[in-house]
Amino acid sequence: MSSVSAAGYRIVENARLDARNTFGVAATAPMLVEVADATALPELFGYAMLRDGPVLVLGGGSNLLFAGDPPGAALSLASQRIGIIEDDGDTAIVRADAGMGWHDCVLWTLGHGLCGMENLALIPGTVGAAPIQNIGAYGVEVRDCIHAVEAFDRRTRAFVRLDAGACEFAYRDSRFKRDPERYVVTAVEFVLSRTPRLRLDYAGIAEELQAMGIDGAPRASQVAEAVIRIRRRKLPDPAVLGNAGSFFKNPIVPAAVADSLKAAHATAPVFRAGGDDLRKLSAAWLIDQCGWKGHREGDAGVSDAHALVLVNHGHATGADLLSLARRIAASVNERFGVAIEPEPRIIGAVW
Ligand SMILES: Cc1cc2nc3c(=O)[nH]c(=O)nc-3n(C[C@H](O)[C@H](O)[C@H](O)COP(=O)(O)OP(=O)(O)OC[C@H]3O[C@@H](n4cnc5c(N)ncnc54)[C@H](O)[C@@H]3O)c2cc1C
Repeated sequence: MSSVSAAGYRIVENARLDARNTFGVAATAPMLVEVADATALPELFGYAMLRDGPVLVLGGGSNLLFAGDPPGAALSLASQRIGIIEDDGDTAIVRADAGMGWHDCVLWTLGHGLCGMENLALIPGTVGAAPIQNIGAYGVEVRDCIHAVEAFDRRTRAFVRLDAGACEFAYRDSRFKRDPERYVVTAVEFVLSRTPRLRLDYAGIAEELQAMGIDGAPRASQVAEAVIRIRRRKLPDPAVLGNAGSFFKNPIVPAAVADSLKAAHATAPVFRAGGDDLRKLSAAWLIDQCGWKGHREGDAGVSDAHALVLVNHGHATGADLLSLARRIAASVNERFGVAIEPEPRIIGAVW
């Protein structure tokens, strides 16, 4: 491995990415560009390999599966500045650099008395990746508090600022996810309030607050603490057991499909999905019904606590995990006639 340093960036050849993905699978990028200062991007994307080839923008690697090596360069952004850029006393706009850790950003906003991101505490990864799949948890999606996304547009080779509407956010989706070779997100602006509008109605938050001895009106930081406690109990820590969180998205299906599933299986969870004619099903329930929870093949497996979470027990390859995921999806399709799609981006293979 050799490396070159220049103003604003550092280039490493043949860079191992094993420690840069939370599945902990082996992968090597022919070139890794570590960008300390995003103003170097126009210069960097002037070089042929970055200008003309595929470029994988890498955050914390917590929503990726390396089923093979990335075909071109990988690029990561290191800058972690954060600050308030507008403030009317109640509502403030916080701007954070893409390289900042997501959870640190959430804690920073709460520490400054700003509410809105408390339910998204402890999601792994970086600020720059948060808009890519419109991260969500406990009834909140990041689009609820995104004001604008700043990015380098590879097509025009210019910096752009997209307001929330232009980001075309949807459930675990955005224009960035649909067009992964176009934008390098450099910073995100969040609109947050000092007046809490807390979401406590989701997946055990109220019960957790009660268990913490908090009655009455909790503070946003206490809601974040409740979310952190629930997540630590429910999800495997990637530092201990390689995983990328939920491996499958909850499928959105026509209401008629959900109705017939419910008629055949009264316990099947069915949720509204925006609009009268669409429903969201629980991928975890579908996978669990097919008997996959706790399944293990060599070092590739499904968490015994959570049917949606694929795990690397040690030395699984990305190809092992992808093969298991494909068979899980095929079995769900065969039994229920429902297609489930992966949530992480798969590198080096096609789903
Ligand atoms: C234990 C665990 C729990 C999780 N829980 C949740 C959850 O509750 N909700 C949820 O939504 N997700 C969850 N995830 C998934 C993951 O944490 C999020 O998707 C996170 O936003 C990924 O951030 P990252 O920096 O690791 O991105 P990476 O995995 O490095 O990249 C993910 C995608 O974003 C792109 N990308 C990254 N940075 C940039 C950038 N600056 N510009 C352009 N593209 C970029 C990559 O190219 C890739 O396509 C979980 C993962 C784990 C391991």
